[in-house]
Amino acid sequence: MIYLKTDEEIELLREANLIVARTLGEVAKFVAPGVTTLKLDEIAEAYIRSQGAVPGFLGYGGFPNTLCISVNENVVHGIPSSQVLQEGDIVSVDCGAVKDGFNGDSTYTFCVGNVADEVRQLLKTTKESLFFGIEHAVPGNRIGDIGHAVQEYCEKRGYSVVRELCGHGVGKHLHEDPDVPNYGRKGTGPLIKNGMVIAIEPMINLGSKNIVIERDGWTCRTKDRKPSAHFEHTIAVHNGKPDILSSFKYVEEVLGDKSI
Ligand code: MG
Ligand code: MG
Repeated sequence: MIYLKTDEEIELLREANLIVARTLGEVAKFVAPGVTTLKLDEIAEAYIRSQGAVPGFLGYGGFPNTLCISVNENVVHGIPSSQVLQEGDIVSVDCGAVKDGFNGDSTYTFCVGNVADEVRQLLKTTKESLFFGIEHAVPGNRIGDIGHAVQEYCEKRGYSVVRELCGHGVGKHLHEDPDVPNYGRKGTGPLIKNGMVIAIEPMINLGSKNIVIERDGWTCRTKDRKPSAHFEHTIAVHNGKPDILSSFKYVEEVLGDKSI
């Protein structure tokens, strides 16, 4: 069942999502060759708790950490570890926080030092496809219109769209109805209405769309081991338009002209 949020609930969701946005900004300060993914996780957890919030992923379905950190060919759900980031890596940082009972959920994929042009372009296109998908989240459209927009944007440029994982409703629960796939047909799926709050999160591969799950039971990686990018915003459909509740502003203030 799709639960439509009141204006008051949307403001609470905005608060949780802005904590996530600022957490990603804190993480951005430390993304560099030589840092471990566990260090990024510690920074995020400390910041979230300093805001009177709690990490949204820690313990969710048994997930052991605050962030999902997925390097290079890892698509999503990577577990922070002693893995050291290397020059030329890309690293997707997916963050959730719960404040006053409501969830925030947002992801940014960072470049570690200088990244090959081909891979930077994958990141740029994935991020652009997120905003293109968001434009389609208006009352009267259907959820399939969002996925169709993302898919067409990325496939036209030669990339592939992961099928097994998708966006979702967000509210008191991290994952609510509806599912928001990054592919689909126009005019299909649930009708988009004011009060819907959804996470849109394209996961886009440089090579084929196929993924496998690693033996840790969490990490999804591309089958062909080519890089994958992931950007995510939580948005509310509000007063007839998409209202982005999370933000990349804090990340981009830190990255400056190195932003994708
Ligand atoms: Mg997420
Ligand atoms: Mg999500």
